[in-house]
Amino acid sequence: MAFVRKSEKRVQVSSDFEELSTPEDLIAFASKKGLETNPINISELAILLGIQVRYQPMQGEESGSLKKDKKTGDWIMTVNSLHHPHRQRFTIAHEIAHRVRHAANSDTFEDATFFRNGDSNWMEAEANSFAATLLMPSEDFEYYIENVSSTVESIAMHFKVSSHAVRIRAKSLGYEGHNL
Ligand SMILES: [Zn+2]
Repeated sequence: MAFVRKSEKRVQVSSDFEELSTPEDLIAFASKKGLETNPINISELAILLGIQVRYQPMQGEESGSLKKDKKTGDWIMTVNSLHHPHRQRFTIAHEIAHRVRHAANSDTFEDATFFRNGDSNWMEAEANSFAATLLMPSEDFEYYIENVSSTVESIAMHFKVSSHAVRIRAKSLGYEGHNL
């Protein structure tokens, strides 16, 4: 049996992020720079990656956006300041994924509620999965469940994410049960 590569996926990691194109790369980078990594200090990581992060009130379900300033070439991330800080963390992680993996494909990303639109677009699906791994690395997630607590609320508090994000991450790592 041969392995076949999914043809619609054409990731061209921008050359400035060749060394930082996976969640694991970013966590190692953050650690080297002295940032907290369990859970990760995601807003400082965005800044270290050269992204300008702005918080402003946005409409309803809009989570955030990432845009390249055409004049300066700077990447600007906007996060909905009305959302819960845990939700903002997911937004920041998701936009970081767009920056390091999809910047060669587009220079404007606008995001509404994650998960709801599902995997209609491979970049969105990839950014969600990237964000979940960055915020809840499998080893840390498994360690927490096995040694501290397996309730969704407790895991969400520890990793500073929404309980919805915890449930999706748990499912992707093969956990099942009452709480997860
Ligand atoms: Zn997105």
